[in-house]
Amino acid sequence: MVVPIFNERDVLPLLAERLRGVLDGLGEAYEVVAVDDGSTDGTPAALTALRAGWPELRVLRLRRNSGHQAALHAGLLRARGGYVASMDADLQDPPEVIAEMLRRARAEGLDVVYGVRADRSRDTRFKRWTAAGYYRLVRRLVGEQVPGQAGDFRLLSRAVVEALRGLPERNPVLRLVVPWLGFPSGEVAYERQERAAGRTKYPLSRMAGLAAESVTSFSAAPLRVATWLGLAGVAVCGVLVVIAVLAWFAGATVSGWPSLYVAILFLGAVQLLCLGLLGEYVARIYTLVQGRPAYVVAADSAAGDGGRPDAA
Ligand code: UDP
Ligand code: MG
Repeated sequence: MVVPIFNERDVLPLLAERLRGVLDGLGEAYEVVAVDDGSTDGTPAALTALRAGWPELRVLRLRRNSGHQAALHAGLLRARGGYVASMDADLQDPPEVIAEMLRRARAEGLDVVYGVRADRSRDTRFKRWTAAGYYRLVRRLVGEQVPGQAGDFRLLSRAVVEALRGLPERNPVLRLVVPWLGFPSGEVAYERQERAAGRTKYPLSRMAGLAAESVTSFSAAPLRVATWLGLAGVAVCGVLVVIAVLAWFAGATVSGWPSLYVAILFLGAVQLLCLGLLGEYVARIYTLVQGRPAYVVAADSAAGDGGRPDAA
């Protein structure tokens, strides 16, 4: 289990009780990686106290608050299980669902099981509205394999975690990169609960940041805006130049106006086009730097695994 935690002192006892109940009930070896994302409210001490009576609890402490996605990534890359699940610390994701995720993954041979929010009526109207827009947008950018209404409550197989580790991206948007990898996946519906205690650590600015990162990490479209504006500018410029020249021939202009007018239009359009051109190259560099592979191999019969998916 990976649980990112930022200033959640008040929920920790309840979290430990519920999570432990579920995981002990599985009757299998497990570890809980609690990623303390630079908390300042006594969370570290509370975690240390919990560890005393719960040997399966492992605490990974980040030096400073690095954000939910970074904390989650740090935990995922260090988790040691054959399956790795992640959930929020505030018990909005009920830990009981994890048992169901694991059962489905094993029974159906799935590598990814998403927790999908069946009922968000407990979330604020604003959160529901922004979430709906967000999922519509990212599904268009990444593809239909992105489950709607799925946050970072999910179960991954070891193969997926290793594939994630193979990505050189520093700060991947996990809820998009995981579906992008394309492993066999399923969904488990659950009811999003109310926060057990404390307040949300995701203010509007962070939500906007996640949305911006989601778009820019899967699309160079914003960089291309200049190209389209430049092309439109050139077209408009062409029409206006013709009008200016006609007006000049008709003697209906002030002396010096057509040349200035045409020069300004022309320069504006050329500048936008050049910016667009630069944008195209920056987009290519960006893709290269992200270092995401063009494809992910599922199996290779020559590798001695008989074509068994993800044996590597
Ligand atoms: N979180 C984190 N670092 C941050 C902000 C949040 O690790 O900088 C954790 C937080 O403790 C919680 C999870 O990420 O376990 C989700 O945050 P929150 O519940 O505040 O978000 P919301 O559910 O309101 O979207
Ligand atoms: Mg929450």
